[in-house]
Amino acid sequence: MKVFIVNDAKNTDFATEKRCAATPITVKKLIRLGLEVTVESNAGAGSSITDDEFKEAGASVTTRAKGIKEADIVLYVNRPSDADLKNLKEKAIVIGHCDPFFAQPLIEKLSEQKVTTLSIEMIPRSTRAQKMDALSSQANLAGYVMVMQAANSLPNILPMMMTPSGTIKPAKVFVIGAGVAGLQAIATAKRLGASVLAYDTRAVVAEQVESLGGKFLKIDLGETGQTKDGYAKELTDEQKQKQLDAQKSAIADSDIVITTAQLFGRKPPQLINKETLAMMKPGTVVVDMAAQSGGNVEGSVAGETVTVDGVKVIGLGNWSQYVAKNATEMYANNICNLLEEFVNKETGDFEVDFDDEILAQSIITHGGDICNQMLRNHYKGD
Ligand code: NAD
Repeated sequence: MKVFIVNDAKNTDFATEKRCAATPITVKKLIRLGLEVTVESNAGAGSSITDDEFKEAGASVTTRAKGIKEADIVLYVNRPSDADLKNLKEKAIVIGHCDPFFAQPLIEKLSEQKVTTLSIEMIPRSTRAQKMDALSSQANLAGYVMVMQAANSLPNILPMMMTPSGTIKPAKVFVIGAGVAGLQAIATAKRLGASVLAYDTRAVVAEQVESLGGKFLKIDLGETGQTKDGYAKELTDEQKQKQLDAQKSAIADSDIVITTAQLFGRKPPQLINKETLAMMKPGTVVVDMAAQSGGNVEGSVAGETVTVDGVKVIGLGNWSQYVAKNATEMYANNICNLLEEFVNKETGDFEVDFDDEILAQSIITHGGDICNQMLRNHYKGD
């Protein structure tokens, strides 16, 4: 089978993308699997990988249109552009972050063209799928980036310093949402010497927060629960209000607040409103990881820093550009692990097997159907 790796930045919707779905190391592994690998010119440039390095690894380099026309499997960091659609072969396999809940028109077009679409976001969070879990590999790096951005914007240092000139107290960091990104933000802030408090509606994470040296803020919201896949459930209006009220004093007391709360397949919850922002001290910093998908913080703008009542609100945008090399390495490994799992070693074919739990959940279009029940319901508005 022929695999083509696109240069995502050539799609105007993702012009600032620096990641790539392959590295020379994963190209060699894919070739060992029996795949023929072609890379779009400059696909690795944002991650400091040259076309020559890809060639030395055994790939050929070509234009996007030619590569897509010939490919059986097309690898994206993000997803196809409209221009790519007309070049995709019927029955081609597209793999990438397809944003299935919010990119309905694209998913429907892929389905109409009988393309098999494997959406990275839909890979289950199971032990077996861990090595392919790009949501986690990328969220982990985003957690680190958020702390670095906040630290660079704060007029304080993070660690305690006792000097003959005086003692500097450690900065106070409050992390709301302790999933993969939040836990890495906690660990990074602790490494830099900050005093860290965290909160999550899933009480089970309290132990993980404490094992990283953070303190867990206890808020009694009653039953909050989690889905069978371990995702947070949406709170009732009463619980939402209770959380907003109970967090206020911790937020007002913090130098940095980092929000990472997400709800699978839905808009993220608003956790900080303008009234709470007004309670924070001037010069403090808020980083909103959910800015791109609707925001945890009222008024945040993805990719921008806005100042509200003297508080800098950083809306996380293209965070991966600051750690593009590592983000590419991790994502390329996830994709390579996925292909190693599902390409038949004897025939060299990618086997679409809906009895496999990982493929059953992550393949969202196949043979002209939208084949994920959750997505079909979502598109119908259920
Ligand atoms: P996520 O990105 O979906 O959300 C981030 C965090 O926000 C979650 O911890 C969630 O509970 C929290 N949250 C939601 N609403 C909130 C609110 N109102 N206030 C505060 N916090 C709120 O989370 P994620 O990092 O993708 O992790 C989701 C789940 O998947 C977790 O249970 C995680 O342990 C699990 N997971 C499992 C595996 C695996 O088994 N291989 C891998 C990664 C993650």
